[in-house]
Amino acid sequence: GRQIWQAKTQQAASAAAVSEADQFKTTNAERGTGHKTQLKKVVGDLFSLDFIWSCTTCGACNEFCPLEIDHLSKIIGMRRNIISENNNIPEELQQVFHGIENCGNPFALRRADYPDNLRWLSETGCATFKEKPTAEYLLFFGCQALFEQTAQQAAKATIKLLQTAGLDLAVLAEAEWCCGDPARRTGNELLYQKTVLRNIAQFTKLGVKKIITLCPHCFNTFKNEYPQFGGAWELVTHTALIAELIAKGKLTLPQDHKLPSLSSADKVKIAYHDPCYLARYNSLTTEPRKILASLPGFELVEMPRNREKSFCCGAGGGRYWTRLQQPNPIIKNRTEQALTTGASVLVTACPYCHRVFQEELARRGQEHQVSVLDIAEMISLD
Ligand code: SF4
Repeated sequence: GRQIWQAKTQQAASAAAVSEADQFKTTNAERGTGHKTQLKKVVGDLFSLDFIWSCTTCGACNEFCPLEIDHLSKIIGMRRNIISENNNIPEELQQVFHGIENCGNPFALRRADYPDNLRWLSETGCATFKEKPTAEYLLFFGCQALFEQTAQQAAKATIKLLQTAGLDLAVLAEAEWCCGDPARRTGNELLYQKTVLRNIAQFTKLGVKKIITLCPHCFNTFKNEYPQFGGAWELVTHTALIAELIAKGKLTLPQDHKLPSLSSADKVKIAYHDPCYLARYNSLTTEPRKILASLPGFELVEMPRNREKSFCCGAGGGRYWTRLQQPNPIIKNRTEQALTTGASVLVTACPYCHRVFQEELARRGQEHQVSVLDIAEMISLD
């Protein structure tokens, strides 16, 4: 069997060599006749701009490819090419870059113009690093929690849980600056690296040693990419930390939930959506399930695409900002997958997934049928 295999591969190799030689002859013949071969550009000709900007960077192609071809880095490479030529950059993306560079967030909102935006934070009583420079943990919110109400609910719930467990933590509040992930995913490597160096300088000055993240995108870049630039801290996601605190008996699971839709005496079905940057990029799939499966009164149900094989929400890779005016077929499909489980609660652990699920359910008029919650909210609803 092994010999046949060898002979076959040799045959295939010589066939390939012949066809390469033929190509070469043809090319020389073309040269001889003065005929010009029309070269196609990779960006724009072979791959349309729409294709290049469509990628959510979910990583599913890399996960599923039987030949382990790294499609994703090629797509990011093409985006970098577009950015370096400063041509064909979508208008919304230019705003995102401007926002990260000048305001420290992709929304391009100046914090000084929104003084009430962090009022919820002062209500939690959580100190800032300035007030408590010896804090053991930095709780890094991510830009969503600084400006979006949905993510603020999750942040509030997380603070409440961590305070209950007695953790010594502080936040940066208005001093927090984007982690840079949106810049890197959309090909603006220069802006990404500038942002990284700025954050490393700030964290070093403050003496940060341990970081808790709410957003999987911040977690992924802090943990897996910042070390390339000299930034290295002990990193933990809020999901993993909550699971650990429950396991150690420092947090107890709520016995009674006050969500209006959950008054039934039967067990309520709950589905968990794995965010790509937790499940596929960082293999964090067991902890959220452990938490949810042990909640009294709930039955954890799975969508067919789960864990590392999860199905993207469609918001990553810059699409959250660039595709606002266009339908998002990815979240439409994923929401349908969630609805077919019969779950009345959909839990996730990413502010981007959270937000686009809510938008899609509202678009369908089904926002009262399914509650979308962050995992921290789910645990603190008692
Ligand atoms: S959207 Fe996901 S599966 Fe499609 S090319 Fe991008 S990373 Fe790959």
